[in-house]
Amino acid sequence: MSEAKPTTRFQCTQCGGDLKPDQGQLFLTCPFCGSTVYLDKSKVVFHWYVAPTLDEAKARGALARWMSGNDTVKDLDKKATLDKVTFRYFPLWHFKQKDAGGKERIVLYPAAATSITEVAQMQLPPGDLRKYEDRLDNDAEPPTVPLEAALEWAEHSPAHKETIVESAVVHVPLYRFKYSYEGQGYAAMVDAASGKVMANIYPEKAETPYQFVGGLAAIVFLGLATFPILGGFFGDGGTGIGFGICTGLGIPAALAIMALAAYVSQKV
Ligand SMILES: [Zn+2]
Repeated sequence: MSEAKPTTRFQCTQCGGDLKPDQGQLFLTCPFCGSTVYLDKSKVVFHWYVAPTLDEAKARGALARWMSGNDTVKDLDKKATLDKVTFRYFPLWHFKQKDAGGKERIVLYPAAATSITEVAQMQLPPGDLRKYEDRLDNDAEPPTVPLEAALEWAEHSPAHKETIVESAVVHVPLYRFKYSYEGQGYAAMVDAASGKVMANIYPEKAETPYQFVGGLAAIVFLGLATFPILGGFFGDGGTGIGFGICTGLGIPAALAIMALAAYVSQKV
């Protein structure tokens, strides 16, 4: 008796039972204990997913609130054109680390390519992790970042001294929005579990007009402050006249600058 060809043996990470995946199968449910696992090249790991709580309408609402908020350019919700909305389960590497004191913490790393690296800052309450289900396959993006690459990253992270006690793949539900603003394309994601909006690059509130108003105010008041000094050269009376000019012009100047600042904050 001899085996036809050497095969890689996969064992359930929960119960150690032999797993017999079909050719190319990556997501598997253990027939012995019912654990859901992901077959990485190097290891079998747990496979979880987070259930969405937001439908597309609510995700659009979350995006609109973020666009009308303080981070983005004024009235972005009205000025941007929504080009595309897609829903996907995005894969994250989910590392449970334990420090010397036995304290656990979770570190996340994208398990597929994404331009929105903020996704690794997501909060995943342990109670939200559910066993992965086959019915999600059509919407779930397969991991393309191998475990070893993610582990290497984790070892170089600030938490490198801590030991990784468990690795898992988590599929998180995300709405991906593509939108345009002033001829430029942007992307944003909405976490369909928490409603949090994630974006790396977006039309930000411009700083330059504010700096201009601030600079203008400094120059105007510095200029006005020289009147009493100049007046001083003509004796005490000159100082008084200088102060008079300074105050007389200072108040309308202050009002003008405040009006300009208000105008800028309306427009920007
Ligand atoms: Zn098992």
